[in-house]
Amino acid sequence: MRLYNTLSGEKEEFIPVHEGKVGMYVCGPTVYNYIHIGNARPMIVFDTVRRYLEYKGYEVNYVSNFTDVDDKIIQKSIEEGVPASEISERYIRECKTDMEAMNIKPATVHPKATEEIDAMIRMIETLIEKGYAYEKNGTVYFRTRQFDGYGKLSKKNLDELRAGIRIAVSEEKEDPLDFVLWKPKKEGEPAWSSPWGDGRPGWHIECSVMSKKYIGDTLDIHAGGEDLVFPHHENEIAQSEACNGTTFSKYWMHNAFLNIDKKKMSKSAGNFLTVREIGEKYPLQVIRFFMLSAHYRSPLNFSGELVESARAGLERILTAAENVREQLKKAPDRECSAEEREQLERLGALRAKYEAAMEDDFNTADAISVVFEIVRLANATAEGSARAYLEEFSSTITQLCDILGIVTEKKEELLDAEIEALIEERQQARKRKEYARSDEIRDMLKEKGILLEDTREGVKWKRA
Ligand code: AMP
Ligand code: ZN
Repeated sequence: MRLYNTLSGEKEEFIPVHEGKVGMYVCGPTVYNYIHIGNARPMIVFDTVRRYLEYKGYEVNYVSNFTDVDDKIIQKSIEEGVPASEISERYIRECKTDMEAMNIKPATVHPKATEEIDAMIRMIETLIEKGYAYEKNGTVYFRTRQFDGYGKLSKKNLDELRAGIRIAVSEEKEDPLDFVLWKPKKEGEPAWSSPWGDGRPGWHIECSVMSKKYIGDTLDIHAGGEDLVFPHHENEIAQSEACNGTTFSKYWMHNAFLNIDKKKMSKSAGNFLTVREIGEKYPLQVIRFFMLSAHYRSPLNFSGELVESARAGLERILTAAENVREQLKKAPDRECSAEEREQLERLGALRAKYEAAMEDDFNTADAISVVFEIVRLANATAEGSARAYLEEFSSTITQLCDILGIVTEKKEELLDAEIEALIEERQQARKRKEYARSDEIRDMLKEKGILLEDTREGVKWKRA
C-alpha cells in the first residue's frame, strides 16, 4: 500500500511502526457551531482510510480530538450568556449526530482539550526544562530556533516568514515564529492554574499531548485538512519531537479543500453550508458519495449539479444491489455454470482492481468507477442464476461499498421537508373533513417511524 506523505512530498510504501496495528490521529473540529460540509471532508476521507485499513486486517487505533477551549467558543458563550462548556458540549453532541448521519465511525477515543490540561502542563514543563520553551509574563512560548527541523513539513522559507510577521510581533517573543504554549487568563475566560499562573493552553499543544497519551510517541498516520500543515502541524512536530526525542509521525496525510465557487468553504468567509442544512435536501449518504468521487488530494467544488450526479450514480449502485438481493430470494441451489464461474472470475479481478486503486494513495474516485463496472456486470445477470453466484455478487458489492461508508440496503427515509409537506397535506385534509385521507397520512408516517403529536401550537413530529 502506498500513500502520499506530505513530509517527504512523495508516495511511500506504508509500513506501520507495529506490524498489523495502525495508530492514527486526525485533528478534529473546534466546537462552537454546527459543522459545515468542508469540515465533513476530512471526517469522511479519513474514516474511509480507516475502513480500508480495517478491511485489510489492521487493528486501527483512531484518535480524533474536539477542541473545546478556544477564542471562538468563548466569544459565543459571551454572546449567549452561558458558560463556554455549555457551548462546547452542545456542539460536540451536534457534531456526533452529524457524524453518525454521515456513517462516520466513532473514533476509538475522542479526547477533549479541557480534560487533558494537566498533561499539557507537564509537556510544557518538559519543553522548558529541555530549553525548547520560555516564559514571559505568564505566557509560555516555544523557541522555534532551538528546534532544528522547524519547517520540514510545510517547506516554508522561514526567513521570509520571519520578515513577514516582524512588525506585528510582540516585544516578548525571542523570534517572530515562536508560538504560544500557554497564555495567561483574561477576565471572564475559563482558566486553569499552572506553574505560570492561571491561564489556558495554546491550540497546538493539545494534539501533541493527546496523540502521545492515546497512541504513543510515534504515530503511524497524522491527518487533517491542508490548511493545518502550517502552522498547526509544523508546531505539533516541533513540540512532540522536542519533548519525546523521536519521530512524531511516520506519515502525514492532508485532504484538499471543499470549495464553493472555487473558494474554500469556511465559517469565517460565510460561504458555508452546514451538514444539517444539506441533510434536509439530500440523504447524507449522497454527500458522502459525492466527497469520495474525487481523490482526497484534489480540490472539490461543491455544486448542486455535481451532487445531483452523485445522487444518480449512487442510486444506480443501490438499485443493482437491491436487484441482486431480490433475485437471491428465489435463487436455485445448484452448482455454478461454466459461464457463471467465468463471471465470478471477472468479479474477483474487479475486486483486485478496486484494492489496487485504494492502495494507490486511497484513490476512491477510481475505486468508485470499479464499483460501477461491477454494477454493470451484476445488471447483466441472467434470470435463475445460482445462489452461490448471486451471493458472491451481493457480498462483494456490500463489502466494497461498506469501505466507502455506503450502506447498500435501501432505507426509505423521509427528508424533513417531505415530512413537513405531508403534515401540511394532512392538515388541509382535516380542514376539508377528509378524515380518511388524514388518517392515511398519519399511518404512512408512522410506518416510516415518524410520530405526530397534535398540540395547541400545532402539529409536532419526531422520529421514533
Ligand atoms: P476547524 O474546525 O476549522 O479547525 O476545521 C476542522 C477540520 O476541517 C480541519 O481538518 C480543517 O482542515 C478541515 N476543513 C475546514 N474547512 C475545510 C474545507 N473547506 N475543505 C476541507 N477541509 C476543511
Ligand atoms: Zn491538531
